[in-house]
Amino acid sequence: MMNLIDTHFHLDHYKNYLEMARNITELKQYTICVTNSPGVFWTCKNQITETKYLKFAIGFHPQESTLDENDIKDFMRLIMLTNYIGEVGLDYSAKSYMDKQLQLRFFEQIVELCASENKLMTIHIRGAEEDAIRILAKYNPQKAIVHWYTGNRDHMLKLVDLGCYFSINTNMVNSCNAEKYHLLPLEQLLIESDGPYTRVNKKKYVPSLLRDAYDEISVFYKNFDMISNIYENFKRILSV
Ligand SMILES: [Zn+2]
Repeated sequence: MMNLIDTHFHLDHYKNYLEMARNITELKQYTICVTNSPGVFWTCKNQITETKYLKFAIGFHPQESTLDENDIKDFMRLIMLTNYIGEVGLDYSAKSYMDKQLQLRFFEQIVELCASENKLMTIHIRGAEEDAIRILAKYNPQKAIVHWYTGNRDHMLKLVDLGCYFSINTNMVNSCNAEKYHLLPLEQLLIESDGPYTRVNKKKYVPSLLRDAYDEISVFYKNFDMISNIYENFKRILSV
């Protein structure tokens, strides 16, 4: 039996995060716990024990308008404590988010460093596909995962050509725009929960629902080898 893998989960957004952390390890589900800032990453890393299955990623989320130059310095310094980076990215969907020029500067710095250090990144892109594609093409990171992709087909296929992986969740396959996700090559698919922001079986996501999330996504792709396909894909992205 192969282990399930969740490449994008917000452990610190659950009130009962200690219980959730215990469940992940008991269920032996490899889980990348993303954070939204270097400060939160540092706190999680110190307060919650990492296991073979539970790892923290250092984040720099474009929706966090309070992040500044000191935070990017912390990010650059703390990055050596982990092989996992996220949630990072570009988001032009609301004016209240981080200033666009600042987002661009920080994201470029992050991608450049992650490409040279060969770190795995889980990337948020909202309304900023062209800039994200330009920056990713410039530095060509080998371990880039586009999380919850919402852009158009053309941009999606450009990201495929750049070698990006795509992490799929249950809300994506149940959305009215789901058809385009059939164009993604099987070898570039991963599965995420993005818990607590998705629903599985009409319930708010918790780690014990990951198996059901895989089942929903398997039905969407009419692929009943999904567990082993995702396992192989994850092994490959870690090894490049
Ligand atoms: Zn997320």
